[in-house]
Amino acid sequence: NLSDKLDKAFHVLKGHGKITEINVAETLKEVRRALLDADVNFKIAKDFTAKVKDKAMGQDVLTTLQPGQLMVKLVKDELTELMGGDVAGINLSGAPTVILMSGLQGSGKTTFSGKLANYLQTKKGKKPLLVACDIYRPAAIQQLYVVGDSIGVEVYSEPENKNPVEIAQNAIKHAKANGFNVVIVDTAGRLAVDEEMMNEIERVHKAIQPQETLFVVDSMTGQDAVNTAKTFNDRLNFDGVILTKLDGDTRGGAALSIKSVVNKPIKFVGTGEKMEAIDVFYPDRMAERILGMGDVVSLVERAQEQYNEEEARKLQKKIAKNEFGFDDFLAQIQQVKKMGNMKDLVGMIPGASKAMKDVEIEDDAFKHIEAIIYSMTPKERSKPALIDMKRKTRIAKGSGTKIEQVNQLMKQFEQMSKMMKMMQGPGGKNLMKMMGG
Ligand code: GDP
Ligand code: MG
Repeated sequence: NLSDKLDKAFHVLKGHGKITEINVAETLKEVRRALLDADVNFKIAKDFTAKVKDKAMGQDVLTTLQPGQLMVKLVKDELTELMGGDVAGINLSGAPTVILMSGLQGSGKTTFSGKLANYLQTKKGKKPLLVACDIYRPAAIQQLYVVGDSIGVEVYSEPENKNPVEIAQNAIKHAKANGFNVVIVDTAGRLAVDEEMMNEIERVHKAIQPQETLFVVDSMTGQDAVNTAKTFNDRLNFDGVILTKLDGDTRGGAALSIKSVVNKPIKFVGTGEKMEAIDVFYPDRMAERILGMGDVVSLVERAQEQYNEEEARKLQKKIAKNEFGFDDFLAQIQQVKKMGNMKDLVGMIPGASKAMKDVEIEDDAFKHIEAIIYSMTPKERSKPALIDMKRKTRIAKGSGTKIEQVNQLMKQFEQMSKMMKMMQGPGGKNLMKMMGG
């Protein structure tokens, strides 16, 4: 964790009064490494550390208990600034608002079109229409219908029409005539940038004059993402960037690089395949994520949305009294399932995505866990310490699992209990409070 490293690098400095060049150089080496690890372009990382160095030099550390934290703050603030500082909203003017998706094939345009429609419908009270302008693959139109069905949003398509400009224009007419106030136009992408695709999207763009032209990019593609962004921006002068597949271990350094190169705000991020896996882009949180601090705030917010306050309060008491048991664990799992994909969540916990890197988390991993817990007696659930070898054997048999799986669950349970305890420490108090405790 970069934060720890910085603390260590500055340990020797305590009592020295001012941050010196030598200490800064050492620390910034770590920062640069973290940035490169997070896929930030080399030159950008270098410029960035030079800037932070200027700011850090001569800062008073006598007043700061932990100089490392001061450095982290400097770095974080600078990163935040680089990524646009404030949250960039989405322009919903126009009657209807027209939103055009652009980006390479597989970047997540169709998925994001659905997520955005769902977001605007549920959070902004809009009536969106999805438009299928990917005319090359019949499966693409079908995919948009599946997406639209799952969120209850109408899809407009003209399967026989091979002219995406016409389809988009007709869709807008259809929207006006039928009371839709947002039109989201999903387009075709190629595996790599090519002239035909660029011409096509440029023509659609020109014809429908969208309020928002969004460039969708897979954050896992790292440096390539930057080049693609540049090409699209040169042609479309787009309004914002959507960073998809930011779940799991991707640290999102591409976000920083893209912002630096095209100077357009990142508006949303996609964090999973489900329709709910969309988040407004917060530059400060992304800065924390790049620094490996984990997106705790997003995690808390998402938890908050789903969390029953009463339950949270009860749970907090139990943790405090060391009474957290398997029944609570089961309740947590059910909660997590509601919140979305396990990997998304793990990625948001500081340090956890590294620690869990080699642990394969399947969504149906829960099935075994649930079976095992159901095979425990109520007593065993409330007092896991009771579970000895003999009981484990019985539980494994009863749940149709292997004893190793029972052991693994016991271990996971212990880790989770520990983590919950930690959340009650400094900083964690806030977390629990925000969760309703
Ligand atoms: P398009 O070709 O640009 O329309 O891309 P799609 O929307 O079809 O997405 C390509 C693949 O990426 C699909 O398998 C999606 O389920 C997946 N996908 C899209 N967004 C995300 C995301 O935020 N996270 C994850 N893990 N997968 C995503
Ligand atoms: Mg598509």
